[in-house]
Amino acid sequence: MTPTVGQRTDDLRDVGRWPGRAPRGDRAPTAHNGAVEDHLLLDARARVLADLSARAQATAAAVSALEDACAARQWWAEQWPDGAVYVAGLVAQDVQDALFEAVGRWPMCLACTEGPVHSLYIQPDLGGPDPVWVCEESGEVAAALGFLNRF
Ligand SMILES: [Zn+2]
Repeated sequence: MTPTVGQRTDDLRDVGRWPGRAPRGDRAPTAHNGAVEDHLLLDARARVLADLSARAQATAAAVSALEDACAARQWWAEQWPDGAVYVAGLVAQDVQDALFEAVGRWPMCLACTEGPVHSLYIQPDLGGPDPVWVCEESGEVAAALGFLNRF
């Protein structure tokens, strides 16, 4: 017999918080740590969304890019559970790349008052652990990922 999908009632709630995502009907029912990965990706999504909002960049296109990045990195985290600490930073980098192609640079550095405008980038470059936004000119930490609205 095939094991029953959806034994965990929190599956429904999590899926409901992911606009535009299909239910995970294609996932092997024996996947054991899906709840952990869901939490991981929801956290990454929330942090990147907060930083998009902090710079008034939470557009439909940006949120779509964010959803794509979360889906891709969820798959990635499933293949390599030890990579969990890198996921949030990698999602941020994915969205940054997608926006760069479609819209422009995000997030911009607001700390430096002289010289040409420039952006922030995620440090460590691997995406984690403890990803922060760093000014590409000064090398100074601007904010932890998810906390751009405080700066
Ligand atoms: Zn700067």
